[in-house]
Amino acid sequence: MFDQPTSGKHKPTVLVIAPSAANRTQICECLYQLPDIRTIATGDGKQALTIIQETWPSMVLLDDTLQGMDGISLTRTIRSWEQSRDEADFSPWTPIVLLSAVNDEDILARGILAGADDFLYKPVSEVVLLAKVRAMLRIATRQQEICAVHRQLKEIAILDSLTGIPNRRHFDDTLAAEWKRCIRTESPLSIVISDVDFFKQFNDIYGHQAGDVCLKAVASSLSESLFRVEDTVARYGGEEFVAILPGTDANGAYAVAERMRLSARDLCIPHQQGIGGRISCSFGVASTRPSIDKAPQQLLRTADAGLYAAKRAGRNRVALNQ
Ligand code: GH3
Ligand code: MG
Ligand code: MG
Repeated sequence: MFDQPTSGKHKPTVLVIAPSAANRTQICECLYQLPDIRTIATGDGKQALTIIQETWPSMVLLDDTLQGMDGISLTRTIRSWEQSRDEADFSPWTPIVLLSAVNDEDILARGILAGADDFLYKPVSEVVLLAKVRAMLRIATRQQEICAVHRQLKEIAILDSLTGIPNRRHFDDTLAAEWKRCIRTESPLSIVISDVDFFKQFNDIYGHQAGDVCLKAVASSLSESLFRVEDTVARYGGEEFVAILPGTDANGAYAVAERMRLSARDLCIPHQQGIGGRISCSFGVASTRPSIDKAPQQLLRTADAGLYAAKRAGRNRVALNQ
């Protein structure tokens, strides 16, 4: 293997895979004219696969006459690995340009079908090689940028814009997924629905902006009350929040809801019309062992009935609906 000595780790990397040492040298010397790229070269297909797995180059220049493993099957392997690659901030696409000694349409068609992006014919013209590498790296860079924006949008799409905690859509997806997981693992699943007490009066007295600030603080306090990574709390709508507690039974969920209640209470947000002059929340808890003959909506309805029982009983409390 040959690695350009003065290379920087963050430069785009071009991996040259060619069995002939003379060929590799010629290509690498040509690529040195591009100061912003790093070049790695090898003549061995297996070593090339190791390099690809370890460094994921920005582009691959691949001779189609590799011994032991031809360029087309190596291309297929790279494309299949890309499918299973799930690293943040990386595009799953690596440009692959095949280098061929013969200008044959069938080989070209097979190469493109296998996943190659372009062909170059040997002996390769320096001007054409540099132009193609520049063009491919430009497309790859744009692709990376699009992937990064796409990831950001996906993250934003599951969050509630006011409170920054997961939104209703994420809650629906998570509940469906956790419901199935609890069926498979035969574990209990609990739901905690909470609602801020006398919040209409809070808005009327202090204004909607103060109401928004209060909702953000309540959301954070509820979120910080959950200690397990598999637990989720989302904004269900308005001043209502809902937590999913997979693998937690009724008693455990009651304890979590009580912790949430105290946490919101400990914010000590003044509310003239509130209980004891402070903001408080009421909580409804429901728990079940999910099975295919039950639906998660039923569990939600049971938790909701618990919430209304807590409201009727005087607010600032947790009601477990069995
Ligand atoms: P209860 O104790 O029975 O829950 O009384 P409540 O006043 O909290 O209940 P109600 O459902 O009558 O009022 C909910 C209020 O929440 C009404 C609405 O103005 C307020 N609200 C809902 N979403 C937001 C929001 O995003 N920001 C603000 N500031 N207020 C909101
Ligand atoms: Mg409400
Ligand atoms: Mg309310």
